[in-house]
Formats: sequence, structure tokens, C-alpha cells
Amino acid sequence: MERTILLTGGAGFIGSHVAVELLQQGCRVIIADDLSNSCEDVVQRIGAITGREPIFYQTDVADRAALERVFAAEPVEAVVHLAGYKAVGESVQKPLMYYRNNLDSTLTLLEVMDAHDVRQIIFSSSATVYGEKNPIPYTEQMPTGGCTNPYGWTKYMIEQMLKDLAASDPRWSAVCLRYFNPVGAHESGLIGEAPNGIPNNLMPYVTQTAAGIRKELTVFGGDYPTPDGTCMRDFIHVVDLARGHAAALEYARRESGWIAINLGSGRPSSVLELVHTFQEANDIPVPHRVGDRREGDLASYYADATRAKELLDWQTEKTLADMCRDSWRWQQNSQGK
Ligand code: UDP
Repeated sequence: MERTILLTGGAGFIGSHVAVELLQQGCRVIIADDLSNSCEDVVQRIGAITGREPIFYQTDVADRAALERVFAAEPVEAVVHLAGYKAVGESVQKPLMYYRNNLDSTLTLLEVMDAHDVRQIIFSSSATVYGEKNPIPYTEQMPTGGCTNPYGWTKYMIEQMLKDLAASDPRWSAVCLRYFNPVGAHESGLIGEAPNGIPNNLMPYVTQTAAGIRKELTVFGGDYPTPDGTCMRDFIHVVDLARGHAAALEYARRESGWIAINLGSGRPSSVLELVHTFQEANDIPVPHRVGDRREGDLASYYADATRAKELLDWQTEKTLADMCRDSWRWQQNSQGK
């Protein structure tokens, strides 16, 4: 029988790609999203890619009555919980807003799920839970915490909530997916990341610079202890990331309990390597200069991706050049929209 999967935050960057993947695998997909950082167009675009539109509820996950209506109307089997505020800098400025939104919505979701006998959840976590002190590469067994901002702490705290919940009741299955650096876009060019205002993250800044919207990319720091002096990150194509969610749903169906799983390639690339790959793959210049370090950046971190391979039979397939080509296609298609 067809599985019905609820995606909270399903109209966002990662959620929309997870929706495409699940629809292509034959699932029914329900999206609950308040559109606070996304756009309803995305729902039609997901339909244009897959030939089948998800069912859309414009709902704030913290709104219990609205969420109750979704669960009453739909035979939800499992939830992928992606809804949440995600801007690191803003979380430092507005910590209460971040704690209130991210924690409150998760608590409401878990209570409503429990009341409706739905106990499989995939949570959108982040490598930021590894904090600043762990050696690289990061393995899931390492201690978490020591986060450097409220956004990161909300991920850490929600992981803990899910751990306690799963320990209290063996019917729960909770998979925390720790994302490394998601970039890229669907190869159709119809969905991708749509940052508000001046981008903080590297890839949207690169694509906007290539498009002439930004004059120049500043590479933050050229004196790190890495081969070319710039920071190194584990960039992961969002389509690979979405496939990881589908695999995690299969896992949650088979196994109960709590588990954390890294979703990364296991191979770091430097900021300059990404810029050079982007220029070559797209045959377009990205004006850039090396500037000062950005406060709070770690020199290098990447995933040990062994557990995902073993438990989910999943690994990344796309290259850095694929990420650069797909991000650029999306940038060109989305301009002016
Ligand atoms: N970065 C950069 N210039 C920018 C944005 C980011 O050099 O305009 C660097 C940043 O210092 C980090 C890497 O790109 O080393 C990835 O940053 P991003 O904000 O995308 O993700 P993070 O790793 O901080 O989560």
C-alpha cells in the first residue's frame, strides 16, 4: 500500500527535494508549511517535476488545532520534520524567537503524533551539534554539545527530546539526520535554495556573484591550516541528501529507538576549490578576493559517512561539479521570480 508521509517545512529548500524523491518512489506526500520562509509556487513545481502534486496545508506546526486537522484528515505513517528557523546569525540576535519556535513546534508535533499513533520521525539535524571540540572526521558516537549559537542548540535539544522519548516508549522510532553542507538544486532547475536578502551561505553567494547581483565574493580567511589556506567543508548535493531521507524512512519503518546518522560525503573541499570548480563547470567567472576570517568558523570539518552506508545503504553520488552546475542552473532560472 502507498505510504503517506508528512513533511513539516516541506516547501523549503531541503523539504522540496525530499518531496520530489518520495513522490518519485510512489509515496503520498503531505506538506505542512507556514510559508514563513518559502513560497507556495514550490508545490506546483514539485508537481511539474514528478507529475504528481503533494497535498499542501498552509500550517504553522506550533498551531496545535491546525496540526490536529492534518492528522485527522490524512493517514500519516511517518513524519519528516524539517520546519524550523535556520539562520545562525539571526539566532544569536533573537535567541528567544529561535527557542520558542523550534522547540515549541517540535513538542506540539510530537504530542499530536503520539495522540494519533504515529511514531516514526526523521529529524532534520545538523553537524553543528558536534560543536567546536571534536576531532575530524565527525562520527555519530562523539559527544555533542558545545554549540556556538542558539540555532545549533535547538538542534541539540531536539535530538535530546527525541532520545528521551524513544527511551520512554519502544514504539517510537526517531532518526536524527546530521546534515553537513547542503548545496546544489534539482537538475530540472525548478526548485532550489532561495535565500532572503544578502546570502550568508557560500553557494548562494557564489551564484549571485556569477550572476552579477553581488560584485565580489569575499573568501573568509586564507590563513587556515589547510592545504590552500581556506576553510574546508563537506558539501553535499541536496538531491543526495533527499535520497538519504527516503532511506532513513525505510530504516525507521524497520527499527525502533533513537539514532543519529551523518549525511555527508566524507570528503571535504575547500572554499577556493568550490569557487574554481564553479568557474570551470559553468565557464563563468566568479570575482573573488581573500578577506578576513569570519568569526566562529572552524578550519575544517567533514563527516565519517560509514554509518549511513552500513545502516541506510546510502552514500553520496554527485560530485562538486554537479553541485556547481545545478546551483547555477537554478540561479539562472529563478532570477526575477
Ligand atoms: N564563506 C566564504 N564567503 C562567504 C560565505 C561563506 O568564504 O561569503 C565560507 C565560510 O567561511 C565557510 C564556508 O564558506 O568556511 C561555508 O560557509 P557556509 O556559511 O555556507 O556554511 P557553514 O559551514 O558556516 O555552515
